[in-house]
Amino acid sequence: MAACDVIVIGLGAMGAAAADHLARRGARVLGIERFGIAHGRGSSHGRSRAIRLAYFEDPAYVPLLRRAYENWRDLERRSGESLLSITGTLEIGRPDGAVVAGSLASCRQHQLMHEMLDRASIRRRCPVFELPEDYVALWQPDGGYLRPEAAVAASIGLAAEAGAQLHFGEQVRSIEPDAGAVTVVTDEARYEAGQVIVAAGPWLADLVPEIAPHLRPTRQVLGWFWPRDMAAFGPGRLPVFIVDDGADGAHYGFPAFEGSAVKVARHGHLDEPVGPDNARRPVRPEDVAVLRRFLAARLPLLDGEPVQTATCTYSRLPEDFFLIDRAPSDPRILVASPCSGHGFKFASVIGEILADLAMAGATPLPVAPFSWAAMARRASADAGGD
Ligand SMILES: Cc1cc2nc3c(=O)[nH]c(=O)nc-3n(C[C@H](O)[C@H](O)[C@H](O)COP(=O)(O)OP(=O)(O)OC[C@H]3O[C@@H](n4cnc5c(N)ncnc54)[C@H](O)[C@@H]3O)c2cc1C
Repeated sequence: MAACDVIVIGLGAMGAAAADHLARRGARVLGIERFGIAHGRGSSHGRSRAIRLAYFEDPAYVPLLRRAYENWRDLERRSGESLLSITGTLEIGRPDGAVVAGSLASCRQHQLMHEMLDRASIRRRCPVFELPEDYVALWQPDGGYLRPEAAVAASIGLAAEAGAQLHFGEQVRSIEPDAGAVTVVTDEARYEAGQVIVAAGPWLADLVPEIAPHLRPTRQVLGWFWPRDMAAFGPGRLPVFIVDDGADGAHYGFPAFEGSAVKVARHGHLDEPVGPDNARRPVRPEDVAVLRRFLAARLPLLDGEPVQTATCTYSRLPEDFFLIDRAPSDPRILVASPCSGHGFKFASVIGEILADLAMAGATPLPVAPFSWAAMARRASADAGGD
């Protein structure tokens, strides 16, 4: 018999949540993480992650988001940590742009609370934005932000309390399935389990080579800017926001909280492909210029040199969808993708889904859009196939 039921490889957002859900259901869990708790080398750092219920990316995500909100609140109750702050979300752009039109479609399909604002109403509510005349906004009262490092640490703490064995500073080198068990080989030991969950973020293709043709890690840059008028940029005044400028890209930002400055980034940044180990190369003047161009045009009170910058990795799959499924090569290997730059808000529900799949063989949550077959169809559509 294998020494444990499930080995979770990678204890970032997805792996930590999976370890928590598995351990509290009584599974014998071993979690293996190459670096430390809530470290800054993967995709789950940077003090804030946006969460919202109406989803311009695709309404198919909304049922999972409802569950994700419940699970974040449950994680707060169990850990005693404050992880989720509601500020509302302001999604700004042209009425027919991807963000505003997509969110509105999502609101209509799922009867979500929202309000449409014209330019004058945006100005009354949030006077810091400079916007073209034809811009509107969709206001989502449920939007807000998560504290990613605290959330990962909370899941890890609860998993350990529930009996999971968690190894940090240990790197998995390979996964070797055979008839009896799945063996995970690290730089220190070999471990056997009935199933393995691979939640290795940008490094996923090192351990699951089948994903390599589809996974595209890209370098992202975040900047923190000190406003000229702080009173207008705190959580009571500035909500989490996205400004969709069409071909000029979408930028997003967070209010200043807990003494930090205002964080701003361009979704996708320069879409620069990187190896997972070199995404952290230093921030260059052209990276800062991307952010300042946006600030000069839309948020002039923030325009200036950043007080801090950071890099992070988006690991994109076809059409920026997720993958949560068993590996085609062996059904005992479950794969949680790093979710194309928008997955953090879902980690609390993806952990539950992975635990369902590993322990019950299926999940009642709607995951068909995130199957391997669905990803392959999207890849073929991207390539111009049928
Ligand atoms: C700049 C930026 C902004 C974002 N903004 C948002 C947002 O506002 N809202 C949102 O919902 N999402 C957002 N995302 C996306 C979200 O953060 C990611 O989807 C999520 O963090 C991915 O989590 P993960 O657990 O898959 O990856 P990670 O957190 O990178 O975890 C993977 C872990 O696996 C470990 N690992 C890898 N290989 C091995 C190995 N061989 N052995 C042992 N351990 C290994 C790594 O060390 C790492 O800890 C953003 C991402 C970025 C980069």
